[in-house]
Amino acid sequence: MIETLLLNFLFLIIPIIIYLVFFEDKPQSFNRWVFSLLAAISMVLCMSHPIHLQLGFIFDLRYIPFFIIALYSGYKYVFPIYIVLNLYRFYIGGEGTIHSLLTSTAIFLLVPLLSNLFLQFKPKNRLTFSVGITTVFMGIYLTLLSLYFDNLNGEFIMLSIYAVTTHAAFMGVIVILIEKIILNIRNRERYINAERLNVVSELSASVSHEIRNPLTVTSGFLQLLGKSTTIGKEEKRYLDLSLQELKRAEKIVSDYLSFAKPQSQNMVYSSLEEEADYTKNLIIPYAAMHQVEVQYSFHNTLKTSYDRNQMQQCFINLFKNSIEAMKPHGGRLSILITEDKKNIVITIKDTGVGMTSHEINRLGKPYFSTKEEGTGLGMLMVYSAINKVKGTISVQSEKGKGTTFTITIPS
Ligand code: ADP
Ligand code: MG
Repeated sequence: MIETLLLNFLFLIIPIIIYLVFFEDKPQSFNRWVFSLLAAISMVLCMSHPIHLQLGFIFDLRYIPFFIIALYSGYKYVFPIYIVLNLYRFYIGGEGTIHSLLTSTAIFLLVPLLSNLFLQFKPKNRLTFSVGITTVFMGIYLTLLSLYFDNLNGEFIMLSIYAVTTHAAFMGVIVILIEKIILNIRNRERYINAERLNVVSELSASVSHEIRNPLTVTSGFLQLLGKSTTIGKEEKRYLDLSLQELKRAEKIVSDYLSFAKPQSQNMVYSSLEEEADYTKNLIIPYAAMHQVEVQYSFHNTLKTSYDRNQMQQCFINLFKNSIEAMKPHGGRLSILITEDKKNIVITIKDTGVGMTSHEINRLGKPYFSTKEEGTGLGMLMVYSAINKVKGTISVQSEKGKGTTFTITIPS
């Protein structure tokens, strides 16, 4: 019996190993199907090596992969598993087929309902929850099964206790493994992101510095030259044009290459109110030009340290993107700044074109732009600035509906 159990456990572990070795770095939407398929295979293997009870029933760990997919992936992915489970169970036949159908239908209908809630939990709570729900379902299943017998014998009760504990324990182990894998993937992404921002930050710091100096010197000399009395009208016009263009170059440098390290003279300890208010007023004419209505509300008393210029630039980039996403029909841009526990929460919501999940993933990578004259540097700057204040950015977007950026900054 122990051997069969261990064999079942091996069937549960194999998909995880296969996943880790071959699929971990593939895109997530594709991976969910892979994981469902692996779970289905592991379920079939479990069912084909069950423990045969004297009562005529068979006992195995098939519900563990079923629960896992139901909780982590939801209806769409668990449906094929549900079908496979029941087809195979009918093929095996024997006592308990109907019980298995009823139980799996109940799990199929009820458990994925909790999937969204489950995914919002912290990893530790997910562990407790999944072990809890497995125990409850196994309890109900075994109680129903016991009604099938006229006189309950000791063997059945002993087996029930075994069944519940092994399910709970194995479920726990599998969930711990999955959570660890998720955490590792997250961490690796974070490192890569931080590293990229670091490189950009260092590079742009030196480049913008190197470029700004010659620009300043050149425009100084040109201004001096403009004061000279010996130059004619035509030359004066050329000088003015040159100065104008230099100013533009300077602006580009300070707008887009401000990923540099925060500058001490710009550091403030404040609530973001001034920056948000200032940038909101700055973009209102731009919004009006594109028929965008701006809603603004500020309810935050928490303070944090940040580079004032960078934070303003970060807001402008976000607001501009939102307005540009609502071209040409206009829409509504809502800017909401609130506090939640010890965090400042900035929500920027638009009713624009939205993004696919692929586009969301590429957001903040250098030169990713879907616009003809886009630079693909705006969001990079945003990520870099928010990263510097130890904040996080989450993006919710639906193609054709709109996008919501939620930025959380610890105070
Ligand atoms: P740019 O604005 O120059 O294209 P950004 O880095 O500011 O560069 O933005 C990169 C891309 O991200 C945009 O081209 C756009 O496709 C997408 N994007 C950013 N913000 C939004 C938004 N609010 N709605 C839809 N798409 C957005
Ligand atoms: Mg932009």
